[in-house]
Amino acid sequence: MDLEEEQSMDVILVGSSELSCPPSPRPSRDLIAYEVRVKQRHIEDICICCGSFQVWTEHPLFEGGMCAPCKGKFLDSLFLYDDDGYQSYCSICCSGETLLICENPDCTRCYCFECVDTLVSPGTSGRVQAMSNWVCFLCLPFPSNGLLQRRKKWRARLKAFHDREAESPFEIYKTVPAWKREPVRVLSLFGDIQEELTSLGFLEGGSDHRQLRHLDDVTNVVRKDVEDWGPFDLMYGSTPPFGYAFERPPGWYLFQFHRVLQYAQPRPGSRQPFFWMFVDNLVLTSDDRLVASRFLETDPVTIQDVCGRVTRNAVYVWSNIPAVRSKDSALAAEEALSLLAQDRLRARLPAPAPAALVKNCFLPLREYFKYFSTELTSS
Ligand SMILES: [Zn+2]
Ligand SMILES: [Zn+2]
Ligand SMILES: [Zn+2]
Repeated sequence: MDLEEEQSMDVILVGSSELSCPPSPRPSRDLIAYEVRVKQRHIEDICICCGSFQVWTEHPLFEGGMCAPCKGKFLDSLFLYDDDGYQSYCSICCSGETLLICENPDCTRCYCFECVDTLVSPGTSGRVQAMSNWVCFLCLPFPSNGLLQRRKKWRARLKAFHDREAESPFEIYKTVPAWKREPVRVLSLFGDIQEELTSLGFLEGGSDHRQLRHLDDVTNVVRKDVEDWGPFDLMYGSTPPFGYAFERPPGWYLFQFHRVLQYAQPRPGSRQPFFWMFVDNLVLTSDDRLVASRFLETDPVTIQDVCGRVTRNAVYVWSNIPAVRSKDSALAAEEALSLLAQDRLRARLPAPAPAALVKNCFLPLREYFKYFSTELTSS
């Protein structure tokens, strides 16, 4: 590694590059500036992510087009976050190469060198790296930088883009600008999520828990109770972990979660962001899980904690939080998970709480709710 590369490591993040480009010959982006400035080609007729002229739709955040393969990549990475709380991919082209990070504390966006150099001007990435406090093209007060022109009402466009292009069972809510974000109000049934949400900065530390209501038994809870306690922005529920004295059959937790969800969610057509998550710690039968998918109108994803080749813990998650699906470990064999469940039943050992496994699924909520300083941002 040469000295220059080494020095730059302090300032930049090296993202993973799992979502690599399609192997087809890559159109060149070097020509974008030439096409627009010299040949007077309209930027909406060029994919600003890769330089292709096969435009499928418009880029939701910046003026310019987007080709079909880039649209797919963009949708897949729209709400992906790394453990450090920043988005995993470039906000323009969705590559995961070396990234420049926006230092506005309310922003989580990243940009790759290539985008910045081709669309703003050559050498811009170097200048940005040398700056001690850089804020990004969506946060800067002026909308235009070289060819990079922020779209008006980009949050609404991002939502429209997702609703039009994604094959997701849920609409996404429009993301909320930082100055409008409020602390999240949480209803947590059976399993508690307080510690995880606090460590992510969504709940204020300390003993005042007005933001979160946790209930273990909801048998006698009626609609009026929930309406009096609410409104809520997030409803979490989980089956109790193994080793916990079951007072009810596992299906009971699902039915009660679904019942209370009807009381907690805003009326149909409401634009207010409302998120929910139901987690099964491998206690539901496969029939119960089918019922859950029917009731909650989505299939579960499997999230596991794997150490070497051993699955130490796993959960099934149903949720409308963006990008939860990207956490799915497709390799989780049904068989391995049922063995894990049987082992636990036999050993009667308390299993780790499911909440830790799903913690990072909540990171996309940073686009909707206020967050307090955390171990993530203060480090
Ligand atoms: Zn493209
Ligand atoms: Zn990029
Ligand atoms: Zn920013």
